[in-house]
Amino acid sequence: MIRQKIVAGNWKMNGSKASVSDLVNGLLEISESSAEVVVTPPFPFLSQVAEMIAPRNELVLAAQNLSQYEKGAYTGEVSAAMLTDFKVTYVLVGHSERRSLYGETDDVVAEKVKVALSAGLKPILCIGETLEEREAGQTLFVCERQVAAVIDVVGIQAFDNIVIAYEPVWAIGTGLSASAQQAQDVHQAIRANLASLSTPVSEKVQILYGGSVKASTSAELFTMPDVDGALVGGASLDAKEFLDIVKAAG
Ligand code: PEP
Repeated sequence: MIRQKIVAGNWKMNGSKASVSDLVNGLLEISESSAEVVVTPPFPFLSQVAEMIAPRNELVLAAQNLSQYEKGAYTGEVSAAMLTDFKVTYVLVGHSERRSLYGETDDVVAEKVKVALSAGLKPILCIGETLEEREAGQTLFVCERQVAAVIDVVGIQAFDNIVIAYEPVWAIGTGLSASAQQAQDVHQAIRANLASLSTPVSEKVQILYGGSVKASTSAELFTMPDVDGALVGGASLDAKEFLDIVKAAG
């Protein structure tokens, strides 16, 4: 099964109106790509980026987070409906920084996936083990637990509209990327696990790798049969570096 690659840049809490404008102008230099190219600015810049990318239709907009509630007295939160109003297509859910710094549990992550799907957003479900868990041989157990919590709430069929990002916590922002083979091994296991519930879903679901991806490592990464793209943090703030990663995706 041919799955379209996705290269998504997660800008995290970086940027200003001026730097976002420069970055998007740089990204609009993109040459034709078979990959879907996604940008994930902080909330305040969503409308600025939406307006800049709309005429060209080459970049797709994502948000970094959303509330698990639909609306109401949740000061400081942003709802799924607000994101669709701003032409957002994808939303990161369960990024390890949300899980570790803001206490997002598997259950909260599952609720967020549910409200995102109900609003017509495509969740990019981030999963992955800590270094301690990897060293204890728990990598697959952790990834399967994180995915199972979502399946329990939305069902396996919903994964037709969910992208998975395998992001080992020890590789995020550390410069210590998993090797292409390490990524492939985990992606293959995640897909096999989904296949035990639905083969068609497992064959269709796009599984991205995230964790210190750079242009220099992406070409080998993208040759792996179960790696369907990348979620890129630090390197996505440099238009040239990010576009080189997009180029490597073909
Ligand atoms: C991320 O934040 O999702 C990420 C993968 O970051 P980095 O590429 O900087 O490791």
